[in-house]
Amino acid sequence: MIEDKYGITIGLEIHAQLLTSTKIFCSCDANVFDREPNSSICPVCTGQPGALPVLNEEVVRKAVMAALALNCKINRYSRFDRKNYFYPDLPKGYQITQYFYPIAENGYLNIKIGEGNKKIRIRRLHIEEDAGKMLHSSDNITQATHSLVDLNRCGIPLIEIVTEPDIESPIEARLFMEKLRDILRYIDVCTGDMEKGALRCDANISIYNKETLERSSRVEVKNINSFRFVEKALDFEADRIKKMMEKGERVEQETRGWDFSSRSTVSMRSKEEESDYRYFPEPDLPPLIVSEDYINELKEKLPELPDEKIQRFQSEYNLLEYDATVLSSSKKLADFFEDCVRLYNNPKRLSNIIINDLLSLLNEHNVEIDGTKIRPEAIVKIAKLIDSSKISASNAKSILEETFKTGKDPQDIVKEKRLEQIDDEEFLNKIIEKVIQQNSKAVEDYRKGKKGVVGFLVGMVMRETRGKANPKVVSQMIESKLNES
Ligand code: ADP
Ligand code: MG
Ligand code: ZN
Repeated sequence: MIEDKYGITIGLEIHAQLLTSTKIFCSCDANVFDREPNSSICPVCTGQPGALPVLNEEVVRKAVMAALALNCKINRYSRFDRKNYFYPDLPKGYQITQYFYPIAENGYLNIKIGEGNKKIRIRRLHIEEDAGKMLHSSDNITQATHSLVDLNRCGIPLIEIVTEPDIESPIEARLFMEKLRDILRYIDVCTGDMEKGALRCDANISIYNKETLERSSRVEVKNINSFRFVEKALDFEADRIKKMMEKGERVEQETRGWDFSSRSTVSMRSKEEESDYRYFPEPDLPPLIVSEDYINELKEKLPELPDEKIQRFQSEYNLLEYDATVLSSSKKLADFFEDCVRLYNNPKRLSNIIINDLLSLLNEHNVEIDGTKIRPEAIVKIAKLIDSSKISASNAKSILEETFKTGKDPQDIVKEKRLEQIDDEEFLNKIIEKVIQQNSKAVEDYRKGKKGVVGFLVGMVMRETRGKANPKVVSQMIESKLNES
């Protein structure tokens, strides 16, 4: 089969916008999302003659934090270089980056594949500035009659992370990106929002024949702007290259872009047209020297990262690995869970409510936990109502939804909506008798040894009471009734 015959090699080059208050070399506001075009600019970030850059310390701090979280070696000495190219969104005519001496290198990230872990090595991590944005009068650039330039993004700080070509499938590439996003968000270095361009990825891919070891040229896919498309674009590209190799066609080394309208990759430029950037050291900035103390101080400030948290949640709270992983997907959610546990020591119950009910609500409304009226106290109240059999676990979601919408106390909602479970035995007895009468076949089966019918009869009682009967009580009552007569 063609799938088994070829192997895939992928390396990623990732840009992450750093969450700093000001830009990298000037004091312009760095929070430019949704801002009026060209409203956060100055002579420095628009490259006016004579304007000089001053490095923002917050950028260094966030870059070092990211590098530490990615297990990189921090270079005490690094330097800035000019990458020269000409494009209307880059008024200086060069981008300031770290080409020869990056701030960090030799890191890695473990991704989880099936039961095992796989180490993806990180070759380097360096600091650079972002460029501006072009707005064309038509989405189809060949039809555009004019273009506008918005320089708000000029000078937004970036880190570029380059992996070794250790990734062996499109799904691994996606898992790597998701893990990277989680980590950058944990340490508050980047929002990780690919759709908004805060995290961007260029993927390099080549295919080799496992028997002959013949290898295709490397193709670079740019403009990938969601986690789903990391996988999709690479799947498409892997198939395209494999088919060409199968036919004995030559694969060009080129840069391709993911095209949303055709749902395929299209050629942007061949390697021969690749620009010559004429890198040279940036004369307007001194070398960047970081002390051992500075690095150690930041090391200590690093919060517990997702992998450690997943381990701890399993050992400390006895959670399943899956549940621990879901709860650790964001720091906010993990902290929320632990706030709940501090108030009520039933981690399993609290984790179930959060994972089954709360997360689906957050997804439906596209908000994060701190953007809601739900406080840990509310989750704890619901957990206690379930544990004392006052409400059924299936009612928890509707109660939570009401709290979510109105901020009301779960206990008040239960009273108002009469959601309390019925465990009044006299009342239940009447219904059980009726159900037993109507299902004489099931009763016979029970006598013949089919104990499973109890579940069926409980279900019938639940239906009669519209889910409000206490299933534990009902089950016990039915069993003793069937055994006595
Ligand atoms: P260049 O100098 O052309 O940018 P690099 O060696 O810096 O190339 O690598 C850029 C990216 O391409 C890295 O992420 C690297 O892992 C990846 N890469 C290198 N060789 C291959 C290959 N044969 N197949 C897929 N990816 C590759
Ligand atoms: Mg490169
Ligand atoms: Zn500025």
